[in-house]
Amino acid sequence: MNAPRQGGAGTPRRYGVLIVGAGFSGIGMAIRLRQRGEEDFVIYEKEAGFGGTWWVNQYPGCACDIPSHLYSFSFAPNPGWTRRFSAQPEIRDYLIDCAERHGLGAYTRFNTSVKSLRWLEEQSLWEITDERGETVHARVVVTGTGALSMPRAPDIPGIERFRGRIFHSQRWAHDYPLAGKRVGVIGTGASAIQFIPAIQPQVAKLVVFQRTAPWIIPKLDRVFSVAERKLLHAAPWLQKLLRGAIYTAVEARVLGFVFQPRLMALHRFLALTLMRCQVRDRALRRRLTPDYAIGCKRILISNDYYPAIAQPNVELVTSDILEITEDALVTRDQVRHPLDALILGTGFSANSLFPRGMIFGRQGRDLLDAWPQGPEAYKGTTVAGYPNLFLLMGPNTGLGHNSIVYMIESQIAYVLGALDAMAGQGLASVEVRPQAQQRFNDQLHGRMRGTVWSRGQCQSWYLHPQSGRNVALWPGLTWVFRRQTRRFDTEAYCLKPKLAEQHQSHEQPIQACRQEEVV
Ligand code: NAP
Repeated sequence: MNAPRQGGAGTPRRYGVLIVGAGFSGIGMAIRLRQRGEEDFVIYEKEAGFGGTWWVNQYPGCACDIPSHLYSFSFAPNPGWTRRFSAQPEIRDYLIDCAERHGLGAYTRFNTSVKSLRWLEEQSLWEITDERGETVHARVVVTGTGALSMPRAPDIPGIERFRGRIFHSQRWAHDYPLAGKRVGVIGTGASAIQFIPAIQPQVAKLVVFQRTAPWIIPKLDRVFSVAERKLLHAAPWLQKLLRGAIYTAVEARVLGFVFQPRLMALHRFLALTLMRCQVRDRALRRRLTPDYAIGCKRILISNDYYPAIAQPNVELVTSDILEITEDALVTRDQVRHPLDALILGTGFSANSLFPRGMIFGRQGRDLLDAWPQGPEAYKGTTVAGYPNLFLLMGPNTGLGHNSIVYMIESQIAYVLGALDAMAGQGLASVEVRPQAQQRFNDQLHGRMRGTVWSRGQCQSWYLHPQSGRNVALWPGLTWVFRRQTRRFDTEAYCLKPKLAEQHQSHEQPIQACRQEEVV
């Protein structure tokens, strides 16, 4: 690839690849491009810095629940992780460091939010318009926007009337001191169980509104000593070994999630034992005990959530929320809970991946209209009707048991394969065949049937609200996904040659899509 083409007067500037988002996916993709000597790409990032979710989520106690030696790029090992499960600032700094080492600052437009992506059929290009109205073109678009970037505010009557401070965990109000305040928290998911223990000692009163109790198992965290870090630094093979060992250990958990849900009994035992050791009050334990199959929502890890909930300044409310007034939250049992501040730990709109009105493919079709049953893609990455568009962390690439970075790296290899095929065969576009996408998804959702996510009766952000399909998770071994994405399988794609190649060739264009194949 060459340097980006400067658009002439009135012609938008043109890039080979435009990457949306500078989190793990976008940074990983860009590093891989740079390592191949490519320069014709740009990253659009809506925030002011690198890190994606680890830049935005800055709530107290924010940390990762996958060991850092695995939750990091295989091509950028970090012997300096200070603990097993690193906290948000350390992960953000790691990502910033990775980006800076590869000079990605020069390729990134910060504070630039993509408003729309529109496929231009005639030119076989994507037209990208940002929020300021500026337009550029790109041959290929790679989205790295993550599955959990759009905060979800609860639809509770009266929420707009609340006069106290209200904010979502993803947009923590660091300017608002919580000390001495009466604070309400809605939600007891992965984010809330991290920030509740962090704020509980400061606040006068903490009222936790729990709709569904989470399953929580012990967090086997520990600090790495200076000597250990030096050793890993001196012996990169040892770090590789450690990464491999962690991968094998966490991958083994898939047996219970996917193949033998009976094995989840071990997790259940751990969770109940943790609760029994940390919560003495039987009545409180009863209310903290989940009533659904363990694993069908994300299993959480924490050593300090239950002790925090058991403190005298904390009240666990399990009655449904009825309404919010100017200064209180009222529950179905007619109790009024006066509050100075309300924190929404209510998660994200995870099952649409993109907002409506953002991505328009062939014939101007909104991507969300192509997904009436919820997001689906071929190998989690490409969608029929949306040529030259690659979705990192796309549909069914999420994991309940292992590191998402492993999946992202698999997808990046697949995208690089696509770029090689395009360059090597002189292609203007690649578009997955609808039949290939359909077959892939039929098999995937067939495998989903016996898993713990489908057996339990619980609701989770993994499931699409209308179809009930699990559109978030990969139902299987991660190395199987890696194997499937190792090679870009052109036979599953409609390949459109560039105009010049088409004219030079006397033969039919290679595997071009027939009109009836096009969605
Ligand atoms: P979440 O897991 O979706 O939890 C949202 C919580 O809010 C749930 O307890 C939910 O109850 C509750 N809720 C939502 N709407 C409500 C309403 N209208 N009334 C009452 N309660 C309501 O969201 P999250 O905690 O932000 O985590 C989302 C995902 O982010 C996680 O699953 C995880 O993948 C990721 N995450 C990861 C880490 C990490 O350590 N790596 C940390 C944080 C987040 P219900 O369960 O009843 O719906």
